[in-house]
Order: sequence, then C-alpha cells, then structure tokens
Amino acid sequence: MKRPKNAAASENKNPLLAEWTGTFELPPFASIRPEHFRPAFDRALAAHRAEIDAIAANASAPGFDNTIAALEKSGRELDRVANVFFVLTGADTSDEIEAIEREISPLLARHNNALYLNRALYARIAELYKKRDRLGLDAEQARVLERYHIRFVRAGAGLEEQAQGRLAAINERLASLGTKFGQNVLADEKSFTMLLEESDLAGLPDFVRAAARAAAEERGEAGKYVITLARSSVETFLQFSSRRDLREKAFQAWIRRGENGGTTDNRALIVEMVALRDERAKLLGFANFADYRLDDQMAKTPAAARKLLDDVWSRARTKAAAERDALQAMITEEGGNFALAPWDWRYYAEKLRKARYDLDEAEIKPYFQLDKMIEAAFETARRLFGLSFKPVAEPLYHPDARAWDVTDARGRHVALFIGDYFARGSKHSGAWMTSLRDQEKLAADVRPIVLNVCNFSKPAAGEPALLSFDDARTLFHEFGHALHGMLSNVTYPLLAGTAVPSDFVELPSQLYEHWLEVPEVLRQYARHAATGQPMPQTLLERLLATRTFNQGFAIVEYTSCALVDLDLHSAPDAAALDVTEFERKDLERIAMPAEIVMRHRLPHFQHLFSGGGYAAGYYSYMWSEVLDADAFAAFEESGDVFDPATAKRLRDFVYSAGNLREPAEAYKSFRGRLPTADALLKKRGLVDAVVKAP
Ligand SMILES: [Zn+2]
Repeated sequence: MKRPKNAAASENKNPLLAEWTGTFELPPFASIRPEHFRPAFDRALAAHRAEIDAIAANASAPGFDNTIAALEKSGRELDRVANVFFVLTGADTSDEIEAIEREISPLLARHNNALYLNRALYARIAELYKKRDRLGLDAEQARVLERYHIRFVRAGAGLEEQAQGRLAAINERLASLGTKFGQNVLADEKSFTMLLEESDLAGLPDFVRAAARAAAEERGEAGKYVITLARSSVETFLQFSSRRDLREKAFQAWIRRGENGGTTDNRALIVEMVALRDERAKLLGFANFADYRLDDQMAKTPAAARKLLDDVWSRARTKAAAERDALQAMITEEGGNFALAPWDWRYYAEKLRKARYDLDEAEIKPYFQLDKMIEAAFETARRLFGLSFKPVAEPLYHPDARAWDVTDARGRHVALFIGDYFARGSKHSGAWMTSLRDQEKLAADVRPIVLNVCNFSKPAAGEPALLSFDDARTLFHEFGHALHGMLSNVTYPLLAGTAVPSDFVELPSQLYEHWLEVPEVLRQYARHAATGQPMPQTLLERLLATRTFNQGFAIVEYTSCALVDLDLHSAPDAAALDVTEFERKDLERIAMPAEIVMRHRLPHFQHLFSGGGYAAGYYSYMWSEVLDADAFAAFEESGDVFDPATAKRLRDFVYSAGNLREPAEAYKSFRGRLPTADALLKKRGLVDAVVKAP
C-alpha cells in the first residue's frame, strides 16, 4: 500500500476532506486516489469520536436535543468518506483498495464499539427512554429515541464491563473476517476463466457468443471466447451449451468458490464467524444467533420464519420432483444414457421451455435492451410516483457508470441516481443498491445520491447491451431499492430510506419487479434491438405464460439456502462445526433434491458472511415476497396496476416512510390489513402442488 510522504501536506489537498461543490455535490472521483483514504478516515474517525465524547460528557441533564438529535448530527465527515470508500470496494476495487479495506474494517468496528458500548452515553439514552412519554416528542422523535435505545441495548451497552470488552473484540474480529470472506470469493471468481475456441461453442446463441468474445477481448484473448463465474456469464452458458463436459467444468468451478483450499478457502472463516456470533448472542442473553437476529425483525422469531419456509419447501419439492421427471424424460427420449445432474438442469429446462411454450431465451433476448429496460423502470416510477429522469454528464468512479437527475412532478430535485450495470473484474458479483448520501431534513434538506450496481454482460463495442428476462427483473428489483432510498421523506437520518428490518427491506424491491411483467410495459419497452419492433403479442403471451415454469427449481434453490442459514445460526455446537459436513447433513435433513444445488453454498454465501447483513436473515426474501405479492394484488384489485390512490398509499407508508413505523403497522396502513400468503403461492404456481412430508 502506498502511503503519502507528507501526511500534513496531503491532508490539505485530500479531496475526500475538501468541500464538494459540484452541481450535485458528488465526490470528485477523478482526483480521489487510494492513498487519500487512510488519512481521511483517521481525521473523520477522530472528529466523530470527539463529537460523541462531547455528547456523553455534556454537563447539562440529558434532553432529546443535546443527546439524540446531537448524535444524529454527528459523524457527517465519516459518513462521507466511508460511503465513497464502500462504493469502490464493491464496484471498482483494486489490490490497493482491498489492502485498505482489510486495515480499515476492524478500525470501523472498534469505532462502533466505542459508540455503542459507551456507558455514559447509554445512561443518557436510557434515562430519556424511561421518561419518553413526558418529553413532549412528536411521533418521529419518539421513534428515533426508541430505535437508539434498542440499538444500544442490542449492542450490549447495558452489560458489565468485562462482557463489553469481549463483545468489542468479537465485533472487530467479525469485521475483519467478513472483509476477507468477500475478497476470497472475488479472488476465486477472478482466478477462473474457461477459455474456449470456436469449436467449443456448440449450442450457444449469438448473444452468448458475443458476450464471451467481449470477455475474452477484455482479457487480452482477442478472437477467443471466455466464460467467467459472473452469474450472467456462467448461467447462460449452462443454459445453452450442449457440451456436457464443459457444463460440468464450469458448474463445478462455480459451486466451489471459496472452497478450493489454499489462502482463499472460506470454510475456516465460517467456523470462526458462526462461533463468534453464537458467543455474542449468548452474551446478550439470547439462546443463539438466530434468536438474537430475528428479535428485531418483522418475523420476531426463527419459528415464524421457519413456518413460512417449511410450508413453501414441501410444496416446492413436490413441484421440483415433477420438473425433474420431465427433464429426465427428455434426456431419455433423446437417447441420453445418464441421470440428470445439477449441470444439466438449466440446459434441459431451457430445451423443455422451448418445446412446451415454443419459447427460447435467444428469441426473447433481443427484446430486452438494457437502455430500454432502464427507460421502462423510469417510466413506471413516473406513472406511480410522478418522477422524471434526465441524464447528466457527471464524472463518476468508472466510465461505465451513468447518472440521472431525478425530479418530481413540479420539477424539484429529488435525488441523483447512478446506474453501474456491467460486470468487470474489479466488481464483486451480485447486484445491489447503495448510496453516496442518504436523505434527511435535520440540519438541512439533504437529498440522496443513490446507486444501482449490477453485473450484466458487457457487449462488444458497437453492439447493444441485451439482458435476459431475469436480468431485467434484477434491474427492476434494484431500482425498487433505489426508489426506497430516493423517495425517502424523513427528518432523522437514522430512519431514512432502506434503514428498515431486512425482512421488510425487500418489499419495495420485489414489489417493483411486478411492473416489469405488466403487458403494457412490455409492449412499450420490449423492442427488438435490430428492428425496433415491439415484441409480438403471441411471444409476449408465451413469455408471460412461462412465469411459473421451472419455479420448483427456483424455490428449492432459494429456500434450501434460507433453511440452512437458519439452522447454521441456531446450531447449539458452533465451536465443533465442520462446514462441509454441516451443509451436507442439513441438506439431507431437509431432503434436498440431488439434482439441485443451493443457490449460494456456504463457502461463497456472501449474504451471510461478507458483512453479515443477511446472517440468519436470508429467509427475508421469501418473507418479503409474501408482502410484495399481497401488495401487488392491491393494485390488481383496484383494476388499474398504476392506480393513483393505491400508489399514493404505497408511497406514503412504504417508499417514502423509511423506518417511521413498525413494518407490520406500515404495511397495514398501506393495505388496510396484514398480508396473507395466498398471492405468493398463486404467483409461484404452488397452489395446486400437493403437500407431502419431506
Ligand atoms: Zn434486494
């Protein structure tokens, strides 16, 4: 890692610490270099520490303003520096950035410990919380105070000093392990490429060949073809390649990320993380980590989450078994003398889809142009929420990232939206929403700067970027998260945008996916890349008719992950854990079909171990799906999927409401009642599935 020669001199010129005065107050990415981060973090951490110390040591009696509001106003510089840094660690990292990340993540954990384990500060919050009904607070202030109190209690602020010391050490260690975990997955993804010759491309349609050619060019192998472990690359290869040997090779590399031995193997890291989480939960008075984690979620208990998953699981297995039989019959019919293996499933499913619905991905793909799908997501936001999007030429951290100025129906600035859509070696896999700045109205009317980062295959120069239908769904999903950030309308930053429990945070994103499937949206925006013609009506009907096709597979692939996650984080003997054995036995326990592999196996399950945002929380997607299916049904029941009155309630109680209310209360305010799972089962084609015990 490079260090500045003269720290004092460089601090004056450090662009991270200067005022950002451009039109949208964006960080000056062009002049930010890796060596600017450490001194900027050091200064920002010291400044925040001083602010916290002053609040804790205030000689005046604790009041809302001198304690809670003061905390809410503190740490601005740290937020700024950290937001820029973590955009880069995810979307455009490098060896230098990774080294700083390993150095800074335990420092940030230590900093958080110093905040949440500060006894004097907690004493003030506890006193305020005790007399909260007599403070004359408005509803939002009361909510902020309550959330601070819960946060401090859950972090261990009320524990004895010795226990606090141990908690602090655990948190720091977990932060380091989480960073290393994500970096290991990226390293394994980067180290594998399958280099192919023209003669290896049997079955691959033009768009897959074009993406593989572009990936080869990017790696200095012009004229050849490269398959990478980015989902859009490997998954389309598995779907189309008729070369069973190559499918197996790519699939094996894909499912063994983080499990290849050597310095990038993640299994020892998992053992340590699970044990540390278990120990932390016990220090805080919970039986295990899952109990601790869900206590502050909408689900409240692992039992509630399990009940939903178990119900879906048995139906999904039944459906997957029927799907497997149909695929095996196809193999036999073709004269194949082998049993369907995991690397065959996507290939034969694609063939069966073509046979059954006269529909193949290669026929659909030219209709899903990236730019048209971005327009479709924007137009949906205009019709639901009155937003407009104007492209702006602002220098960003990578030339592939683009920005739009977002305004409301009266032309007022709402947010800056940044879309960074293409896969590259410097980007972590997956798709996510994040922000450079969050909304608030406390010190000033601050509007957010929100990003969507995806990993779609980049086309060769001059060719249009084409998405699969799944990619288009991912784009809508992440854009739903982005709207949750951009429409946020709260006073206190603690409650802004996506700062809600993780089993509620997928509601705005998953709900938004529904509008992609609205026929009039597809008719307008699914246009052929070469001819500009809209998708023919019959093709559109066939596309929508396949919505429940292969859903047994999809739900099994997902739900197995959610169940293994809950089991792993409820395991009573975390210290004696053998990750491979645990995964194998747990899958056996739930009777995982042999032909399907978990969507994320434990050694590369970044939701659980890279940061840990979804640890014991992967069930959230299904939990939120109950909500999103039920919520979209509200639009359908109104007879208009853009119904203004329903959209207004949705905006008021969900998209703009951040964490102003308990999730169940927020949902009830929108829908008039709590959700039921009926719409979810219907959407996934599970209504008729016969329930059998596993
Ligand atoms: Zn999401």
